[in-house]
Amino acid sequence: MLIDDLLINLCILVALIFGYQQIRWKLNVGKKSATFSFLFDGIAGGVLGIILMNYAIEVTEGTIVDLRFIPVMLLTLFISIKPAALSAAIIVIGRFLFGINISSFGAFFWIAGILLAYFIIHKKIKTRDGLYKKAVYMIIAANVIFSLIITYLVQDAAILALLLPVYWAIAFLGGLISVFLVDYQSRSNYLLQRYQKEASVDFLTGLNNVRQFDKVWNTMMQKAKEKEEQIALLMLDIDFFKKVNDTYGHPAGDKILAELGEVLKRSTRTIDIVSRNGGEEFSVILPECTTSQAVEIAERIQKAVEEHPFPVNEDKTIRLTVSIGVAAYPETVNDPEKVVQQADEYLYKAKHSGRNRVCYHNEVLSP
Ligand code: GH3
Ligand code: MG
Ligand code: MG
Repeated sequence: MLIDDLLINLCILVALIFGYQQIRWKLNVGKKSATFSFLFDGIAGGVLGIILMNYAIEVTEGTIVDLRFIPVMLLTLFISIKPAALSAAIIVIGRFLFGINISSFGAFFWIAGILLAYFIIHKKIKTRDGLYKKAVYMIIAANVIFSLIITYLVQDAAILALLLPVYWAIAFLGGLISVFLVDYQSRSNYLLQRYQKEASVDFLTGLNNVRQFDKVWNTMMQKAKEKEEQIALLMLDIDFFKKVNDTYGHPAGDKILAELGEVLKRSTRTIDIVSRNGGEEFSVILPECTTSQAVEIAERIQKAVEEHPFPVNEDKTIRLTVSIGVAAYPETVNDPEKVVQQADEYLYKAKHSGRNRVCYHNEVLSP
């Protein structure tokens, strides 16, 4: 009976922690203001404690036992002592609402003692590796304080002989399972977020990768078509980049690609979208842009790259050039499906007419 009730308490705890973490992640609480997350986490911990009390086991008249110390412990371990203190305060107030008697005062001393112990443990053991060690100390501290207070309150050897071992076992089980759950869930959320970002961002330059380029291009092209707006696309390829790699090595080449990404961002408007479409090929989407404006931006890029010193090692910089193909919808190409293809064709043409130049609508602009 006692074991069943404590296990029910444990199941409620696990289910609510899981749900809470999902909500916290979806609402991006970790990235909100410090006050917001303090209130959000503190209140959530307090409410969780009160829910656990609601399913508590009544050991003697007016004395209830449950796992309410766990939310306070988790907040201390994973967030900070401040929301833990807020949740402890809410739990104490909640306990008094369940009835004002000697047991609720006992509960007050228990929670206050726990908070103090957690504060000390939190200060003493700092490392992230010490997570479980810290949790074990926290569970022991909570259980020792609990055992002293409950012994004083119950004063019945038979009840205590059954209650204390079962409580210690369930508190350990519950405490460690909760720590594992929160740690595991935080890690998987973090990894999921990282992978989602990596799926759209090019790791070398921080620009969009080709997959993101496709997605953004299709959306923007569709919008331009529907609203009958103009949109242009630049396709850009570094000239003789293989030679740079062969002469200065692949890592120097990588640094140049990252630097070129910066030059491109600086030479374009804030609404333009720069991507690395693969290797040493980049693209710039130019929303609401006519052919002549697009050509102007392309020439600005071409000049900026030509004039930029790219460092290849600590004391040497080199000059590079790029060739650019420009396609503009609907001026140079009427079919939305063919814009990318046309920009590629003009890039090819710029290469074959001598490189370091801009090509659009059969016009090749020499540098
Ligand atoms: P072209 O003027 O005709 O474009 O000549 P190119 O040498 O730039 O062209 P090519 O396509 O023959 O070679 C592209 C080179 O880009 C080949 C490869 O060494 C280099 N490259 C592609 N991706 C990367 C990368 O991620 N890092 C580095 N460092 N080099 C890369
Ligand atoms: Mg090239
Ligand atoms: Mg190439």
